[in-house]
Amino acid sequence: MTDTPTLRPLPGFSGPDAPDDEGLHRCVHCGFCLQACPTYLETGLETASPRGRIALMRAVAEGRTALTDRVLEHWDLCLLCRACEAACPSGVPYGALMEAARTQAERVRPRSLVARALSRLAFRELLPHPARLRFLGAALRAYQRTVQRPLRATGLLARLPGRLAQAEAMLPPLPARFFTPAPYPTRSGRAAGRRVALLAGCVQSVIFGPVNEATVRVLARNSCEVVAPPAQVCCGALHAHSGHLPTARDLARRNIDTFLATGVDAVIVNAAGCGAMLKEYGHLLADDPAYAEQAARFSALVRDFSEFLAENLTDRDFGPLPWRVTYQDPCHLAHAQRIHLQPRALLRLIPGLELVETPAADRCCGSAGIYNLTQSEMSLRLLESKMADVATSRAAVVVTANPGCQVQLTLGLQRAGLPGRVMHLAEVLDAAYRAAPRPIVPEEALPRPERQG
Ligand code: SF4
Ligand code: SF4
Repeated sequence: MTDTPTLRPLPGFSGPDAPDDEGLHRCVHCGFCLQACPTYLETGLETASPRGRIALMRAVAEGRTALTDRVLEHWDLCLLCRACEAACPSGVPYGALMEAARTQAERVRPRSLVARALSRLAFRELLPHPARLRFLGAALRAYQRTVQRPLRATGLLARLPGRLAQAEAMLPPLPARFFTPAPYPTRSGRAAGRRVALLAGCVQSVIFGPVNEATVRVLARNSCEVVAPPAQVCCGALHAHSGHLPTARDLARRNIDTFLATGVDAVIVNAAGCGAMLKEYGHLLADDPAYAEQAARFSALVRDFSEFLAENLTDRDFGPLPWRVTYQDPCHLAHAQRIHLQPRALLRLIPGLELVETPAADRCCGSAGIYNLTQSEMSLRLLESKMADVATSRAAVVVTANPGCQVQLTLGLQRAGLPGRVMHLAEVLDAAYRAAPRPIVPEEALPRPERQG
C-alpha cells in the first residue's frame, strides 16, 4: 500500500455534499463504537474504526491531510453497516458523514477508463431503469438455464476479468417470474382496512420476485389493499453508499412523486437497505426547497414490512411449521432503523417453529450492497465468522430481511458446507399461512342446490 498523494484537488471538502461540520465535531473520541465495528474487530486498527475514519474526515475537512490513496482505502473498507451509529452516545450521524465523504472522494478518485465506464453503466444506465434491469435479468436467467453449467465445467469462468467471475459465482438462480409493478391493486385483502404501497426494489424484484409476491400475499391476508406503482424506481441506497449522492437525490424525487400520488396509508419496504434509505429522504432533500416538505411527509409514511405487520396483524391463523430457524438481522434494519424485536416476535407466533438465537446476530455478514464485490477479502472474513455463529444454532432455515443478506448468507452456507437454506421473513410467514388447516365450512353456510320444478 502506498501513500503517494495522488489526489490533490481537494485541500478540504467543499460544496453541498461536504460532510456536515457539526456532525463531524460531535465525535468526542470516546471509543464506545469500537467494539461494534466489524472492520475494527477484524483488523484491530484505529484507521479501520469509526473513530479513526471520522478523524480522517476531519483532517481532510480542515486541510491537515490530503485525500490520499491510503485515506480512501480506510474509507472504502467501511461497510456502512452503521453499527457504530447505533452504539454512539453522542449521536454522530456516521452514515450521512461517510456517504458525503465518499461523494467528495468520487469526484477526484483516479479510475481507469474501463472502471469509469462500468460505474456509469451500473449506477446511471442500469439501476435507475427497472425495465433494463428486468431485461438483463431475463438474459442472465437464459444463460443460467442453458450454458452456465457446461461453461463452469470448463473452468474458463474463473478467468473472467475483474469482479465478473465473483459476480457470476454469487448470482443465485433467477426465478421463473420477476415482480413487475402494475397500475392496479396488486392484491386486495378481504375487507381491506388499509391501502398500502409496496416498494418493489430494483434488485429484489428481479432476483427475489417471489419474496415480493409473498409479501403482497401476507399483507393482503392482513386486510391490506396493496398497490405497486409502476413509475417507482431504485431507492438510491447503492448510489448514496458509493458516492453518488446527486443521482440518489434524483431517484428520491421520482419516488416521492410516484408514491405520494397514490394517497396510500403507508409505503411498505421488505428490503432493509431500501427501507433505511426511504426513511432518510427527508434528510437527503432537506436543503431542496421544492422537495423538503414532501420528502419529510413521504419518509413518515415508510414502514419496514415487519414493523408494519407487528402493528397491523389482523390474521394470526398460522399453520404449524416444525422448523428450527435462526434470525440474522440485516444491518440496515437493526442499526439504521433500530428494528430488532418485530421480526422475532412475528416468527414466535408460528406454531411449531423454534427460533434459536446466535451470538452477534446483528453483526454484518459482509454483504453491504456491493461490498462483497469491491472488498471481497474482508467480506469473506466477515462471512466466515458469521457462519461459525450460524453453525452453533443448528438451524435448518436462516431467516433475514434484505436481498443482499440473502445472497451472502446463501453463499456462506455453501462455502461452510452447512445444510439448510435462507429465507426472507415474508416467505416464512407466507408458508405458515399456507400451512394453516383449511377452515371446515359449516353445512348451513354451503350454497343450497336450487329446487327443480
Ligand atoms: S463516533 Fe461516537 S462512539 Fe465513536 S468515538 Fe465518536 S463519539 Fe464516541
Ligand atoms: S459503518 Fe460499520 S464498518 Fe463502518 S465504521 Fe461504522 S461500524 Fe465500522
